Amino acid sequence: MKKKTVEDIVLKGKRVLVRVDFNVPMKGGVITDDNRIVQAIPTIEYIVEEGGKAILFSHLGRVETVEDKAKSSLLPVAVRLQELIGKPVKFIPQTRGLALEEAIASMKDSDIIMFENTRFEDIEGKKESKNNPELGLYWASLGDVFVNDAFGTAHRAHASNSGIASHLETAAGFLMEKELRYIGGAVDNPVRPFVAILGGAKVSDKIGVIENLLSKADKVLIGGGMAYTFMRAQGFNIGTSICENDKIELAKELLVKANGKLILPIDLVVSKEFKNDTPHRVTTYSDIQDDEMGLDVGPKTIELYKKELQGAKTVIWNGPVGVFEMENFAKGTKAVCEMLANMVDAKTIIGGGDSAAAAIQMGYADKFTHISTGGGASLEYLEGKALPGVESLDDAVECNCHDCDCDK
Ligand code: AMP
Repeated sequence: MKKKTVEDIVLKGKRVLVRVDFNVPMKGGVITDDNRIVQAIPTIEYIVEEGGKAILFSHLGRVETVEDKAKSSLLPVAVRLQELIGKPVKFIPQTRGLALEEAIASMKDSDIIMFENTRFEDIEGKKESKNNPELGLYWASLGDVFVNDAFGTAHRAHASNSGIASHLETAAGFLMEKELRYIGGAVDNPVRPFVAILGGAKVSDKIGVIENLLSKADKVLIGGGMAYTFMRAQGFNIGTSICENDKIELAKELLVKANGKLILPIDLVVSKEFKNDTPHRVTTYSDIQDDEMGLDVGPKTIELYKKELQGAKTVIWNGPVGVFEMENFAKGTKAVCEMLANMVDAKTIIGGGDSAAAAIQMGYADKFTHISTGGGASLEYLEGKALPGVESLDDAVECNCHDCDCDK
């Protein structure tokens, strides 16, 4: 079911509550990556252009004690947003109370205010994270309509998403809409051939994703640490490579279920120690020695990936195929990144997390159709799970006209 978007609701003169994801990385009060702020701007600008009163809020990190509050204020984010958007952003250092209510009452059309970190409400009984009904109702009382643009928290039912949504007309912001269109669209209705590339450390973190994608994709290419549990399940010696012994049986079942769809590395870069500056060699999957561990996929595997990706029309990638944080074991992940960046005829989607960070870091950010901003949320979406933050968006009104070309 299509969801209502910010373009489907009346904004003029309305108090528009906007849940954004401003959970940015910070060091000593300084924002080290403002990508999440940049990504939220189209929705905020649209609300402002339409004459809505934009009331922004977000969580930032975990806040469990009064001491946590001091280092978790959203003030630096409000300052950064003001610089980026070129309009005043009034910051209210509270999450509730008279000062906030008066500031909202005195807003003019197209004004922007931002209130304090929603997790400040977690100090007494995790009200925000546990979706306390009183808190959701209170925040809802501050607005006329609700726009949820925080895909990154959509896999959790919080007072600041589902809580508010249960009381107000609720629509997706542009960023949320983009995530649903690309990730949801790719999984539920992919243009084929559809190939998934899954890497990362452990099978256990991604069982749901592997299972779901095995049933939807035409091929699932496995790399990274999780490949070794599968190789072990096939009876190969994997030396000291990362392996989840309690998942070997499951890996065997998945291999049977996959019926040839699951592609494992055929060569690897192995070393005796888990560190960058250590001798390493490329070897085949059947020749790992007892004292060696696999830390990257090898050149033949890259060629195999290339072959499997040929002609693909939809590609989803989640998880690095090697220990990309170490230069000597980053070649496989770089190669995957480059390969996908050059697939001009395919929809290429990165499902958040480390692979998204790797692509951005390598300068390929604008070469992909979509890079998800959600780590946990995009994983759960790839698993095919219903996300509370998405479920709580209003359904779009279906268009009954036969002649127009709208896609509703
Ligand atoms: P994930 O968060 O599950 O996507 O895992 C990402 C992590 O997997 C990164 O920190 C990588 O260093 C790690 N990783 C990838 N390949 C391997 C490997 N062969 N051995 C150990 N860790 C790996």
